[in-house]
Amino acid sequence: MNRRPHVRRQYWNAPTMSWWERLYLPEIVRGLSITGGVFVRNMWRWMTLRKGALTTYYPEETRADYAANNRGKHILTQRPDGRPQCIACNMCATVCPAQCIEIDAAFDPDDPAHPKSPSAFTIDYSRCIFCGLCIEACPEDAIRMVRMVPDFPGRDRERMWITLPELLSWNPQSDVAKPYPGKTGTATFRESR
Ligand code: SF4
Ligand code: SF4
Repeated sequence: MNRRPHVRRQYWNAPTMSWWERLYLPEIVRGLSITGGVFVRNMWRWMTLRKGALTTYYPEETRADYAANNRGKHILTQRPDGRPQCIACNMCATVCPAQCIEIDAAFDPDDPAHPKSPSAFTIDYSRCIFCGLCIEACPEDAIRMVRMVPDFPGRDRERMWITLPELLSWNPQSDVAKPYPGKTGTATFRESR
């Protein structure tokens, strides 16, 4: 049996180098001079009490110029009675590329308008990449992100799990435009807080 010779596929553009770059040593010297220049400049600023460079002493300091696209920290919106607007459909957890959302669903047969809700809702911020896809996927406007710099530094990863009570209460919000039938079937609106 004739076997075709194995041809390794190349998925990248091979760099082209000039003869000067192929010598390597000049490029190494150029790289060291750039690194050394930045180091000396920052050290001089630090020695003259101007702090230097872009260093921010997080978590004692947070920068005021965080990117405009910083999406911030999650919240779960509430129904008029304070329970989560979430219907535990799991769409956010399914779409999450970091697989960092875990939801346990509860069932309330006495609430036909909203029988399913989360009994537990956890986001692992040690894995979240703040992409916002969970917000896009939610059919109920039940999960949002509020622009802020989350205060997460701690000694262990357990501290980076954000749970249902915190998601509901750290910045409580509801959707004023959304009528929500109560258990009696009467539509109710709630002012956004
Ligand atoms: S922001 Fe992205 S990574 Fe974080 S929980 Fe939502 S979908 Fe997952
Ligand atoms: S937050 Fe939205 S997408 Fe996620 S389970 Fe609740 S209703 Fe579904």
